[in-house]
Order: sequence, then structure tokens, then C-alpha cells
Amino acid sequence: MSKTYTITAALPYTNGPIHIGHLAGVYIPADIYARFLRMTGNDVIYICGSDEHGVPITIKAKKENKSPQEIVDRYHQNIKQSFSEFGISFDNYSRTSSKIHHQTASDFFLKLFENGSFEEITSEQFYDQEEGQFLPDRFIIGTCPKCGFEESYGDQCEKCGTSHNSSDLINPRSSISGNKPSLKSTNHWYLKLDEFQGFLEQWILKENKDYWKSNVYGQCKSWLDDGLKPRAVTRDLDWGVPVPVKGADGKVLYVWFDAPIGYISSTKEWAHENKKDWKKYWKDDKTQLIHFIGKDNIVFHCIIFPSMLKAHGDFIIPKNVPANEFLNLEGSKISTSKNWAVWLPEYLKDFPDKQDVLRYVLTINAPENKDNDFTWKDFQNRNNGELVSILGNFINRVVVLTKKYYQSIIPTKNQLVDADKLALKLVNQSITNVESHLNNFKFRDACSEFMNIARIGNKYLADEEPWKIIKDNPERVKTIIFVSLHISSVLGIVSEPFLPFTSKKIKSILKSDNHEMKWSWDNLKNNDFLISENLKINEPELLFSRIEDSEIQKQIDKLNKNN
Ligand SMILES: [Zn+2]
Repeated sequence: MSKTYTITAALPYTNGPIHIGHLAGVYIPADIYARFLRMTGNDVIYICGSDEHGVPITIKAKKENKSPQEIVDRYHQNIKQSFSEFGISFDNYSRTSSKIHHQTASDFFLKLFENGSFEEITSEQFYDQEEGQFLPDRFIIGTCPKCGFEESYGDQCEKCGTSHNSSDLINPRSSISGNKPSLKSTNHWYLKLDEFQGFLEQWILKENKDYWKSNVYGQCKSWLDDGLKPRAVTRDLDWGVPVPVKGADGKVLYVWFDAPIGYISSTKEWAHENKKDWKKYWKDDKTQLIHFIGKDNIVFHCIIFPSMLKAHGDFIIPKNVPANEFLNLEGSKISTSKNWAVWLPEYLKDFPDKQDVLRYVLTINAPENKDNDFTWKDFQNRNNGELVSILGNFINRVVVLTKKYYQSIIPTKNQLVDADKLALKLVNQSITNVESHLNNFKFRDACSEFMNIARIGNKYLADEEPWKIIKDNPERVKTIIFVSLHISSVLGIVSEPFLPFTSKKIKSILKSDNHEMKWSWDNLKNNDFLISENLKINEPELLFSRIEDSEIQKQIDKLNKNN
């Protein structure tokens, strides 16, 4: 039955390009899910946008002597292009510096302000007299009280990893002017998170214990067990959504408060452009809201944003938050500052037209329940040993044989024998498994089950050996090729969520639009053949090509050169 889904993917932070960790953790699984749900007849919107506020952007802007807007404009375009090149099928990709977002976030704040969800608290914060501004934690540098590192940030020491308050630093200084900051009192609004403790315990710990992923549930439980405290939703900064109340000059919404509202404003933007009603996707209890995020975002999407939505009162809360763990690279944590990463624009330069290879490797090895490692060697092995040898090889053999024996015209099948029936049965089982895994957010298993269909096809061809019997039993060969072409058509459809570029190629080779049966996901399950006899298909075309050792060595050298 058709349902309505609002699928969101974490808003990428616009202070750098996108790397493979982002893709594996969030955007590919969400894309697979969105594509699958669309193919199975649901009303789906897949929503994202750039997160353009926050302190790191202002720091980068100061360093480069640019305005924050110039910084975000540069990366917004860069990120948007990477997503599009990798086939991430967003219905809308917006940005939080847009007018519609500022208005939406501002209205959201006001509603909570007026209904008593905030409390105003005055506290002492570091202030740079020379610059005339308050200093967020990241703008304060000093000696770490734990390890003595002299360049520790206000909120965290990068050397020993300890979190602390900026007031704990020894010899604190402003990272803008280098001066010793003074303390100055300032007032801010705090969301009374403690008031949502009971609701969150009931909703997450009781109602979703068996449904949510265990890594997500575990992190939520630990936050709830510690007890929730009010949390500041505003800060003293000049880059962000201005706090829309009197006497709040020089204050903006804290970036964690405005960013998730970006999902709503992005939906509004899409609805406006497509003449749809955005409220259906955010205010109808029958709509399923699903947030795809990395594990560092769990608290914001499972504890804080749902509390904000609840405090507002008009919105639905998420049905699930299938957060992933982290992807490492060659055994070490991906690091932007150390340039230990595979950046998408660079990948495409080195491996043009190999988007699906990366999509495949990042899915089959996704960090679903624990941190996982991307290695170039594994990338090569998966390409050569699976995409080339199993999937590419199967489709190619079938299409080449069809050309050789029948001038590319699909033969008329004869009576099916047991071997045919068995292969078809196994393929159908795999389709059912793919569906079930996708419905349960198990993208690795789903992808491996999809590849299994190609394995079944290869085994069937190897067992039936049409090339050996073509002379003595040409009628039997017609059936074998027919069944193999049907399995190829199944692969053309089932590959679409995982490998959209390859799916398009397979469909084009097999002329998917010219068959009597519609090549839809629903028709995969009615035990009928998708292909039509006597239809002429296209020439063979290689789907994948081998990746040589030298290309892999080049990538490893490139990584090591930076370190
Ligand atoms: Zn330290």
C-alpha cells in the first residue's frame, strides 16, 4: 500500500567538500532507501541542503579574509555538484542562508518563545574587548588543564581529546586578536529539555526499543540516563539567523537549533516550486519521517529536534533514525585537517564514470553497526572480483550470446525444465530478501543479496552450458538464453537503488521501454517474464572495467604524500 515518506539526510556543513565518509554514512543509504520507496509506488520526498551557519565558517572566513557568505557560496556549489554527480536523488537541496529558511527558523523560535518552552539565563562569557565581541568556545585558545597542550580549544583539547569549559583553560586568549579575554555577562534562551525527559523515555526507550538500531538506542539511553538539562538555543555571533525578539541584537540562533529546521524549509521550498502542500510531509500523522545521519548527530535528531517539534506542537516526530557509525580510511580516522580523506571531486577526476563502483563499495562495506574501514585494495577487489567478474560478466555473456546465436533478437522459449524453474525460484527469493533488508535499513545485506542474483545467473549459465549444446540441441538453448535475459532484466530493475548508472545502462542494452510488460518493481513479483520474445535488443556494452594495481598504488601514494 502506498505511504507518504519524508526522508532527510544530514545537512552537510559548508566548510569543505564531501568525502567518502559522508557518502557511506548518510547520503548513499538514504538514496537507496528513497529510490526503493519511489520504485514501490510510495509518495516520497528526499530532502537535504547545506548547513551554512556556525562558528567554523566564520573562522574560515576570517582566515581567508572573506565574508562567511563567500565561503558558503563556494562550498554549497561544490557539494551540490558532487551529490548530483554521484546520483544522489534529492527532491530538493536547499541551504540555510536562504530567505525561506531564515523566515521558517525565526517563526519556529518565536512560537517556542511565546509558548514558554524557553527560559532566559544570564551567564558570564569570554569577551574580546579589542574586537568588541563575545568569543564562542572555538574562538578561545589556551593551555589544556589535563595535558598541558598550549593550543587547546575552549571546548575541547585536540591533543588529548578531553572536553572542558573554556573557563577551565589556563592562560586563555582570543584566537582573533591574541589578547587575554575578559568575562562579561550575557543573556541567552535555553530550551527546557528536562521537561521532555518523560516523553522521550516513553517514545524511545519503551516504544522503539526493538525497532530502532541498537547503536542509536544505546546512545539515546545513555543521554536519558544522565538526565537532560536546559540547553542554550542562542549565542552571541553575527553570522546566523538573528534572534527575533527585542533586545537580542548581536545574537543568533545556535546552529544546532536552526539546522534541523532546514529540513522543513527545504521541504517548503520544494513544495512551492512544485505546487505541492508541504504540510502533508510534516504535519500528517500518517507520514513517516526518517532521518539519515551519522552517529555524531544522534543526540540532535533523537533527543533535541524531536523535543523542539513536540514543543512546537504542530509537527510529526521521526519514525526512525537509522544512524550509521563512522567509516575509516586505510585503518585511520578520516581527517579533514590532515587531508586523510578521499574527496568526491578528486575521485571523479581519477575514476571518471566510476560513480557506481564507489557507491557499491561504500554500500557493501557500510559502517552500519560498527566503524568500518575503506581500503583501496578492497575497492579494487570489489570492482574486479564482483562488479566486473560477477555482474558485468553475466550481463555481457548473455547479451553477446544473444547476438551470436540470434542476431540480438530475443528467442522464443520452449517448455521450462527443472533447472530453469530452480534458477527462477532462487532469483525470486533474492528479490524478496532485498526488499525485506531494505525495509529494515540493512543496506549491506540488501546489496549483497542483489549481487546474489547475478551469481545465480552465472551459475545457471555455467551449469547449462548453452555454448556446448547449441549444435545438437538449439531449441533448448533458446530457453536458456530467454531465462538468462529475464534474469538480466531483473538485475536491471533491482540494481537501480544501488547502482543507478549501471541500471540505466542495463535497461538501455535490453531496451526496457520496448517490452510488453512494464519494468516496475511490482512486476518483478508476479512470476511472469519481463522480456518479450522476438524483440531486438542493443549491442553488447561493457558495464565495468578492471582497475589495475598501478591506479590503486597512485591513490595510496597520494594519501601518504599528505602525511
Ligand atoms: Zn589536552
